[in-house]
Amino acid sequence: MKRLLVLLICLCLLCIPAQAEEYEKLIALTFDDGPSGRFTRALLEGLEERDAKATFFLCGYRMEQDPALTKRIFSEGHEIGLHGYSHKCMKTMCQADIHRELQKVASLLPDGCQAVFLRSPGGLCSNDVRAAARSMNLSILSWSVDPKDWATNNADAVEKEVIDHVRDGDVILLHDMSDSSVKAALLIIDELQEEGFRFVTVSELAKAKGITPEAGKEYHCF
Ligand SMILES: [Zn+2]
Repeated sequence: MKRLLVLLICLCLLCIPAQAEEYEKLIALTFDDGPSGRFTRALLEGLEERDAKATFFLCGYRMEQDPALTKRIFSEGHEIGLHGYSHKCMKTMCQADIHRELQKVASLLPDGCQAVFLRSPGGLCSNDVRAAARSMNLSILSWSVDPKDWATNNADAVEKEVIDHVRDGDVILLHDMSDSSVKAALLIIDELQEEGFRFVTVSELAKAKGITPEAGKEYHCF
């Protein structure tokens, strides 16, 4: 009996490192308000060099200005989510107006691209936003780490804010709208890849965590 117990303990100890090796820390970087003719290409190049995927919450009026850039984001394996057409606050709109905004931006997606997530401008939600999202089979995505990159041009400070707070399964909010935000994103990737994190799209993150996003439901992290 005692020998059997020792054998069982040894077997358990052998299993622990194997499970630890299989466990992978995942992060979803999200970029709002683009695409930007000035900054998004540099970001895409940095992401490709690092074999990192991200999710872009695009504005329709900007997609119209540079359709080739939107196509490139999609063709390079990144996810595209909806951020409205005009970037006007959806919280104060009626459901019909929100629906029109979403249909207009969805019509600009590249062939074969189907948006899964909506992030309303400012992340501000209402029952009408949730109902409009549900009617278009969209889930709503907020975030779990916000380094407020739009309020500074200090890439190191943005990086530090993320590194200090990030955990497996987090959704990080950034904007591909300035040099410092792009620089911060690439610094974050370099640092966290060294710590064993992998950068995936939001849909990939949800799937890896065994979550199927439901239409009209709000998510912050996975
Ligand atoms: Zn925005």
